[in-house]
Amino acid sequence: MLDSAKNKEWPLIGNSHLTRFLKKSIGNGQVGGSYIFLGPDNLGKTTLARFFAQCLLCEKTKDKISPYPCSECRSCQQFQGQRERKAKDEDEKQMVHGDFHLLKKAKDKKFISVDEIRGFIKILSMSSFLSKYKVGIIKHADKLNLEAANALLKTMEEPNSNVVIILIVTDIESLPKTIVSRSQLLQFRPVPNGIIYNYLIDSHNASRSRAKDLSRLSLGRPALAIKLLETPEFYEQFKELARMFISFFNQNINERLQAIGSLINKKNSSQETASRTRRTIEIWEGVIRDSILINFNLDNRVQHEYVSSEIGRILESRNSRDLIRLEELLEQAKKYLRNNVSPRLVLENIVINIDDRRQTTDGRM
Ligand SMILES: [Zn+2]
Repeated sequence: MLDSAKNKEWPLIGNSHLTRFLKKSIGNGQVGGSYIFLGPDNLGKTTLARFFAQCLLCEKTKDKISPYPCSECRSCQQFQGQRERKAKDEDEKQMVHGDFHLLKKAKDKKFISVDEIRGFIKILSMSSFLSKYKVGIIKHADKLNLEAANALLKTMEEPNSNVVIILIVTDIESLPKTIVSRSQLLQFRPVPNGIIYNYLIDSHNASRSRAKDLSRLSLGRPALAIKLLETPEFYEQFKELARMFISFFNQNINERLQAIGSLINKKNSSQETASRTRRTIEIWEGVIRDSILINFNLDNRVQHEYVSSEIGRILESRNSRDLIRLEELLEQAKKYLRNNVSPRLVLENIVINIDDRRQTTDGRM
């Protein structure tokens, strides 16, 4: 049976153990004061957090909270409206719900500030409007600055039985251990390709070949698969970035630097540019991973199947040691980005060093 079918109205593809856990805690009346939803992007963490909130805030079931919200009351309608807006890629901020508050890092900021956390805590500490609970979600909670993390911790040390806080996190190391130890940790894992494949066919009427392509491209991240399916420009851009990386291997440094220039849009804020650059590097990592798979004759597992013959050509002049070095080069690039090196420099460093191998083998650039 399909995972999505088992979950019924719970909007999570795969990771069904997490859905079961949350349903059970609602059923047993054992809802915790704080949760950490941990895992890579695009696994549906925020969507699940919102649905959990919808269950806790449903007006019809407030006497006995149910894992099946009514979907008709004013509270439920607001959550559903928000889901539809999100599906259309409209702004998340529009939802105004007296007992629900979502805080996320501003796109142009590196951290969530202490003032933002104080505002968040203040809203949650006011008595509830219509529901038994007040629910707060903090997206990018691994981007709290120290003062903000301390302010949040203080609230967690004096828990209010009606307040539920959900922290959405990709990097648990960036969160103070004291916050982690006070929370229930839900670990989201990449979803098997087969589940995404079936989901795309059953729920989005995708053709088999498209479902196969997208389930591989998305590397276990359902929300990415859906975005690739529903946004043709995004899909093309995704593939274009993979092709760009492959072209580097036939280009001279000037041509590569020119290509890099086209990736940096001056209109974007530096934080936006940094996160776009990180996504670009992740796509390039996929190409290198594919080269390694093809090198080991595991062609049936490649992510970027549409360019597998081009990837094969990269391999003609490279051995596995070269590929590992390229993997390390990209890994290092992500590290530089995290340490605030300018995205342009990070990308330039990649394209300049792609051919390091030649330098060591025959002594010229
Ligand atoms: Zn309801």
